[in-house]
Amino acid sequence: MPAYIWIGVGAAFIALLLAAAVSNGGRTSETKGKATRIDRPHYYDRDDHVCSVCGAEFRQNTMTCPRCGARFDAVKTDDRKFIEEMTDEDDWDGEDD
Ligand SMILES: [Zn+2]
Repeated sequence: MPAYIWIGVGAAFIALLLAAAVSNGGRTSETKGKATRIDRPHYYDRDDHVCSVCGAEFRQNTMTCPRCGARFDAVKTDDRKFIEEMTDEDDWDGEDD
């Protein structure tokens, strides 16, 4: 086989590897037992966290779920609650006065 075919195959293979690495966030793939801790900032209160596996809500800054024991290997921020509370507060201002 001519060398240029191998160079083409090699380039395609490297491109695939790079695409896989990027889609994994640069980490090696590890699909077993994926758990994400969802951080929810609050407007008035301290942040709380939600387990993506069992849905437990907790305040401890831990990377292990206090309810189901899942180990979180990723943290995601969900600020919808924060925005909701901030918007609510604006509404309250108008109604209370
Ligand atoms: Zn859990």
